[in-house]
Amino acid sequence: MRPAHALINLEALRHNYRLARQLSGACALAVIKANGYGHDAVECARALEQEADAFAVACLEEALALRQAGIRLPILLLEGWFEASELPVIAEHRLWSVVHHQAQLEDLLEARLSAPLHIWLKLDSGMHRVGFAPDDYARVWRQLKACDQVASLTKMTHFSRADEPETGRTEEQIATFRRATEGLEGPRSLCNSAGVLAWPPAHGDWVRPGIMLYGATPFEFDQANAARLRPVMNLESRIIAVRDLPVGEPIGYGSRFVTQRPTRMGVVAMGYADGYPRHAPDGTPVLVDGQRARLAGRVSMDMLTVDLTDLPQAGLGSRVRLWGEGLNASEVASHAGTIAYQLFCNLNRVPRRFISSDSAI
Ligand SMILES: *Cc1c(COP(=O)(O)O)cnc(C)c1O
Repeated sequence: MRPAHALINLEALRHNYRLARQLSGACALAVIKANGYGHDAVECARALEQEADAFAVACLEEALALRQAGIRLPILLLEGWFEASELPVIAEHRLWSVVHHQAQLEDLLEARLSAPLHIWLKLDSGMHRVGFAPDDYARVWRQLKACDQVASLTKMTHFSRADEPETGRTEEQIATFRRATEGLEGPRSLCNSAGVLAWPPAHGDWVRPGIMLYGATPFEFDQANAARLRPVMNLESRIIAVRDLPVGEPIGYGSRFVTQRPTRMGVVAMGYADGYPRHAPDGTPVLVDGQRARLAGRVSMDMLTVDLTDLPQAGLGSRVRLWGEGLNASEVASHAGTIAYQLFCNLNRVPRRFISSDSAI
């Protein structure tokens, strides 16, 4: 069989979840939207079910897939509902929901549900994507507080620049949150992964770690807490062909790479149809038998090429790791001008294999 696969280390996932809890001293929603950032939401939920406080996903469809797989913990819908007709289903499946918009507020005030909902009321503290404006927040909070369809209210906001500690923006957002929610009782939730790792004053009662669960850093600089994360996804394959080329020979589509020395070139069964970024430039690191090599030539749909000249022991059948233990996806992403989030979410075609201990890595 084609050797390309993603080896998902569920023990590393648990390690990262515990780190989020320990750093924040708060309850932690494990964010497993977008199929667990490409890691398989159901498997991630099962791996965390014994210790997670709750899960979070983007929409009802994602939550129902977890319920159908037998996941019973609370699940928060991070964008709430898109149509009022979802409300009875949300109540029936005991899901928690964000309310971020006037139309959702009205839907809820008019609804007659089988059970009241746990609501996370979102404040727009400065990201200007979703959430109620600071001046409207207390009014909406009081309306929901008085509504029979509401079982509890959590105060929530989201940071736009928590991964850039020097900008001052997160301090402004924290101050706006404090002002807008002053005197309103109930738990608070502000932090995504960057907040958990770098913003202790904002930890509040609930944190919402996403990318850190999967062992990638949200920062573009070295950060002490992020250094304690362990990669969960190991994207792996093997060398399927080797070629010796003289100086001056082009490799692959468009002849992007031309040999500057006699070159031993290896072909890896991994391409952009698997989710490896097509725009990764020459020089992007790749591990071959645990040693660093460099991408050479344009990534094709099913194959990519690496320079093996400095790895004489590597050859046909050598194990290749595109990212994972020993080569963080964040590093590959920064070469490719993107972020680890996108690399993970783009994972495609490759079978995922799950392990629950570190021995196989
Ligand atoms: C996706 C998401 C998160 C998780 O963000 P990370 O940067 O992956 O930690 C947290 N909160 C909300 C509202 C989200 O949509």
